[in-house]
Amino acid sequence: MRIVERKQPCAACEAEQAVYVKPLVEKDGAGNGHIVRCPKCALVSVDPMPPLEANDLQDVYDEAYYSEYGGFQCIGNPVADRIMLAACDRQLAMFEQYVDKGIMLDFGCADGKFLKAAQLRGWDAYGLDISSYAVDCAKAAGLKAFCGIIDDLPIEDGSVNLVIMSHVIEHIGDSTDVLRDIRRKLKEGGLLVVETENSRSLRRAIELAVIWIASQLVKPLGTRFRTRGKQRYHRLHPPVHVHTYGRKSLEALLSRVGFEVVHVTCPGMGNPCFCVTVPGKRKSLFENVLQRVDSLGGHLGIGEVIVVLARAIEQPSSAVLDKGHSSDA
Ligand SMILES: [Zn+2]
Repeated sequence: MRIVERKQPCAACEAEQAVYVKPLVEKDGAGNGHIVRCPKCALVSVDPMPPLEANDLQDVYDEAYYSEYGGFQCIGNPVADRIMLAACDRQLAMFEQYVDKGIMLDFGCADGKFLKAAQLRGWDAYGLDISSYAVDCAKAAGLKAFCGIIDDLPIEDGSVNLVIMSHVIEHIGDSTDVLRDIRRKLKEGGLLVVETENSRSLRRAIELAVIWIASQLVKPLGTRFRTRGKQRYHRLHPPVHVHTYGRKSLEALLSRVGFEVVHVTCPGMGNPCFCVTVPGKRKSLFENVLQRVDSLGGHLGIGEVIVVLARAIEQPSSAVLDKGHSSDA
């Protein structure tokens, strides 16, 4: 195990050191930093973070991003819309066991599938996204979606009952300030739901093991197999996915910014409530087998998705002072 000094401290627990995993190699073979793992909370990250300005992000999350993304976020697919709406409805029914209905914010709302489901269930639903393309789609559907930062929203501090971050946190380099802003908008006792890919799933463990064994059996292909295998395993695609979280790293991050975790579940991809899959392109035999493995992982509580429900608790004054909202809000 090789311990290295990292360019940025761990985004979850602020550890200064990291375990070196491997160089980050893009599909075209270009080197683009390193993959590191936190020795304290096991967060897997790109190091250093890609330097991105807000304007660059419009180019990343444009129409092509949403149309190429054949999964649950795809825009303009009526079958996907119907399946997603039903899944969001099931999720909301679960979250309503933990929080009263009121104002809901979907942070990273894309084209507003969750907003639509929330509206239909009687929530006062707002959405925020950095993609002007996605927000325009949501607005065209008559939803209250905004492009920009949290302070652009017409929502008072301390007024929000529920915030959803569905497959968003893995895109954010440093999420500490983002989560503090979200905490500020939430009522005390309000609920934050974070959904992301699970760094400790059964599918990942099996996938990595199979690729490693294949690389040993077919020596000439060994290096390439191992490189591709680890790349797939960690699911890091900068500048889009820059972290892969697990339970420990999410708990470390949320506890630092005024939240108490109240429920964790790890379903598989394709779960009818979380991360439904939309019928579409044909999958390879290997991918079909891995989906079965993930389905088993979901039953065992180690599926490919991790969902954390966290309650906003009273913040230590230092956390408020850090952000500078105590006197100038
Ligand atoms: Zn850490």
